[in-house]
Amino acid sequence: MSRCLTERSIDHVVLERGDVAHTWRTERWDSLRLLTPNWQSRLPGFGYTGDDPDGYRTMPEVIDFFACYAKTISAPVQTRTTVTSVRHNGEGFLIRTDAGEWRCRTVVLASGACNVACVPAFVNRLPNSIANITAQNYRNPGQLAEGGVLVVGASASGTQIAYEIQRSGRQVILSVGEHIRAPRMYRGKDLEWWMDVAGILDQRFD
Ligand SMILES: Cc1cc2nc3c(=O)[nH]c(=O)nc-3n(C[C@H](O)[C@H](O)[C@H](O)COP(=O)(O)OP(=O)(O)OC[C@H]3O[C@@H](n4cnc5c(N)ncnc54)[C@H](O)[C@@H]3O)c2cc1C
Repeated sequence: MSRCLTERSIDHVVLERGDVAHTWRTERWDSLRLLTPNWQSRLPGFGYTGDDPDGYRTMPEVIDFFACYAKTISAPVQTRTTVTSVRHNGEGFLIRTDAGEWRCRTVVLASGACNVACVPAFVNRLPNSIANITAQNYRNPGQLAEGGVLVVGASASGTQIAYEIQRSGRQVILSVGEHIRAPRMYRGKDLEWWMDVAGILDQRFD
């Protein structure tokens, strides 16, 4: 968004509560690799130029990618600034942050869609002897108490985490709902490649 606004000479600022790529720095486990191949991570005017287009980025590589992009486009990011309220204010908006106020005519909300873990209410009824943790707070098996582990949810996060914990020598049970796993590769090509060329990724939500 910042790059597109700059292209149109629209004065703007990007307010960020942490550092650039904050969610990738703070809400992902250590060994996570992107599900999407390198060639697929594209930002306006900035794609993958390395020698492994079909590889999958590690978290440090993802963070580098975003940090490098912000620098390359000279994005006017004000880090360590948490927006605490947005109020309509006559012609524009009054933005309150923990580092002062801003006034602007337009606000772009890009605060993310996966920042609040969805935890079933019954978790409060679990006995105290059962520790529970969300994928957002999980980092590595070393962080877990002794004993077996139940991983609830068998999509990309659940299966990766279950596999890693099992390899650490613990007994793991993976609780599977209705999610259907697609094959990673088909006829030598990544699933994402097929979805791209078949136009599935271009389908609008409506
Ligand atoms: C475990 C996991 C694995 C994933 N793997 C992939 C993958 O392989 N490939 C892929 O393409 N996508 C993947 N995704 C999805 C990807 O993370 C999101 O689609 C993407 O991060 C969305 O980008 P965004 O900029 O909209 O939101 P975010 O990346 O969430 O960025 C929002 C930013 O807003 C900031 N912010 C939030 N609230 C405030 C506030 N009040 N004040 C100031 N700043 C604020 C946050 O700190 C953050 O930096 C994955 C997601 C998860 C959770």
